[in-house]
Amino acid sequence: MKTLYTKIVDLQSQQEEIEQAGQILREGGLVAIPTETVYGLGANALDGQAVRRIFEAKGRPQDNPLIVHIAQFEQLATLVTNIPESARLLAEHFWPGPLTIILPKADCIPSETSGGLDTVAIRFPSHPVARAIIRAAGVPVAAPSANLSGKPSPTTARHVLDDMDGKIEMIVDGGECSVGVESTVITLVGDHPVLLRPGGVTMEQIRTFLPDAQIDPAVEHKLEEGRRAASPGMKYKHYAPLAKVVMVEGNREEYVEYVNSQADKDVWALCFAEDEDKLKVPALCYGAQMDGAAQAKHLFDALRRFDELGAKTVFAHCPDRSGVGLAVYNRLIRAAGFTVVHL
Ligand code: AMP
Ligand code: MG
Repeated sequence: MKTLYTKIVDLQSQQEEIEQAGQILREGGLVAIPTETVYGLGANALDGQAVRRIFEAKGRPQDNPLIVHIAQFEQLATLVTNIPESARLLAEHFWPGPLTIILPKADCIPSETSGGLDTVAIRFPSHPVARAIIRAAGVPVAAPSANLSGKPSPTTARHVLDDMDGKIEMIVDGGECSVGVESTVITLVGDHPVLLRPGGVTMEQIRTFLPDAQIDPAVEHKLEEGRRAASPGMKYKHYAPLAKVVMVEGNREEYVEYVNSQADKDVWALCFAEDEDKLKVPALCYGAQMDGAAQAKHLFDALRRFDELGAKTVFAHCPDRSGVGLAVYNRLIRAAGFTVVHL
């Protein structure tokens, strides 16, 4: 593949850079875009050839479909075959924001974007720079997380540069992402709504509008051998640093005691803020025990830092699974490859 010089632009809303990003996207190029969830690697969602470049840059399996980003609700009707009442309700309450809705796809969505499925995932992000770039592009923007496939998702422009330098035309630096984990993904295609990936919009919030919404078992558990993944992304290893991550389930005292009992080995801790001082091994904390929002915001950066620090084994304290904590749990259990110590 041709080596590119990746231009980084630092802005909050400079019109000239936004226009340039829009033009690159329109012409089939790749731009990394700040969003409220994580940085996205954008291409024109209606251009199969441009979308193919996303898969090449990330090393992403081609059957793993992309999320299509829009900048106004009216765009939705052009991308799907019908909009059920349930989609209108969710859009009304959670768009723009960290929620992705899956619906039957319109013919204009190429199979590269939908991963060969007859459905498409749509999101209307709230980040002002993301919205300005999508508007400037004048096309819907397909954007998965802007990391190498399998690595922790990027929450800063620096993370994107580490993975994508020389592979994409531009990175737009919008600062640190506020949510820090990818969007909530819900499918409205079957008999009842099903949560395929937890994120910043919580299951509790969704159930206030769609009480019959269910959680796909693969959100919390390893996909059973031979079972078809409702969402292709569920079957792949994800979010993993080079270090071996072990999820530790237990209360704070048990966790501290367990980790300290391993202090003679070369291990690290990913802990709650309350416990950092009590640990006898080097540690990164990812938020207070009951602060799921802080944990979500810091998780991926911490996972990337373990690699920079040369950590080989990381004992991660299992988060509470309520609210946004379910998203934190879902990412961490995958980073751990479902290795759990129950205390
Ligand atoms: P990412 O682009 O890295 O944020 O991942 C998008 C996630 O949404 C992946 O887990 C995909 O498998 C999932 N996804 C996207 N489109 C669909 C779809 N049409 N049906 C089911 N899952 C989807
Ligand atoms: Mg991803």
